[in-house]
Amino acid sequence: MRDVESAVAVAEEAVPEHWRVTDSQSVSRSIARISTLARARHAVLLAHNYQLPEVQEASDFVGDSLGLSLEAQKTDADLIVFCGVHFMAESAKILNPAKTVLLPSLSAGCALADSITPESLLRWKERYPDHTVVTYINSSAEVKALSDICCTSANAVAVVRSLPASKILFTPDRNLGRWVARQVPEKEIVIYDGACPTHDVLRDASVEAARRAHPDAVIIAHPECREDVLAMADEVCSTSGMLAAVERHPEARTFLIATEWALIHQLKKRFPGRQFIPADGCIGCRLHCPYMKMITLEAVERSLRENVFEITVDPEDARLARRALDRMMAVPRDR
Ligand code: SF4
Repeated sequence: MRDVESAVAVAEEAVPEHWRVTDSQSVSRSIARISTLARARHAVLLAHNYQLPEVQEASDFVGDSLGLSLEAQKTDADLIVFCGVHFMAESAKILNPAKTVLLPSLSAGCALADSITPESLLRWKERYPDHTVVTYINSSAEVKALSDICCTSANAVAVVRSLPASKILFTPDRNLGRWVARQVPEKEIVIYDGACPTHDVLRDASVEAARRAHPDAVIIAHPECREDVLAMADEVCSTSGMLAAVERHPEARTFLIATEWALIHQLKKRFPGRQFIPADGCIGCRLHCPYMKMITLEAVERSLRENVFEITVDPEDARLARRALDRMMAVPRDR
């Protein structure tokens, strides 16, 4: 990582105008300061694929929720600076109770995680007492603690298939839940009614418009997208799974990407000869997660300098959530 040239070059094509880097020298200096601070504090910087390109470049590891969870578990750093959203930093803390975990902005929440509370999950569990609860990692520690097992978009199908139970309560993302239910028809899957607004806003009509402009494009969609969008997709996978999906289409030059626009930074780095276009038919303005973009280089630098904001988890919630996360991490990726 820490390749500011790449961050700036990619930004010109893949990034909505408002978020483009306009002063590459200042970005370069900022990344250098962060690198020095991180070394001095023996810190590791983990960044989600939806982070700003320059934050991805400032980080040691960039990945999806499953990859970041695994990385958080094996790091020997004293300090984890989590460039992502709150539930991700919480998961890192649960997996590393002895380490300090910092989230550079407390405004980096997640609307999907907020769509389920411990109280609402308890009500659903009362209605479906015989069901095994599978909870997407995009949820609070308290909700994970009330769940039998977690999953990410990278292993949701494999997690549900791995369970001996035939009755599943899948929470909180209804689009991912429906996608899993179609892949695992032999199980009875009740689906909670939450959604990610960034993905749920995308409609097939917008993707159709983008496809008319690029008729030969391969469509790759995240399973948090609605059913009408997933029905148009050639590939449905997690953000890191999208990198592998591109490799499965060596003949294709153009890809429509139905997920948060910042992932395109990683795609363009990995496949410089290919064209990646946000599937919303505009410049990525619909597929934009405002929570992820709360983490700026300035916030990361402040986090390292001032030791903010430390993430803590109630010990009993952490113990039970850890059980659900450990079970999840024992299941391999869908593909
Ligand atoms: S993209 Fe959706 S699920 Fe991911 S952090 Fe943003 S609001 Fe949450």
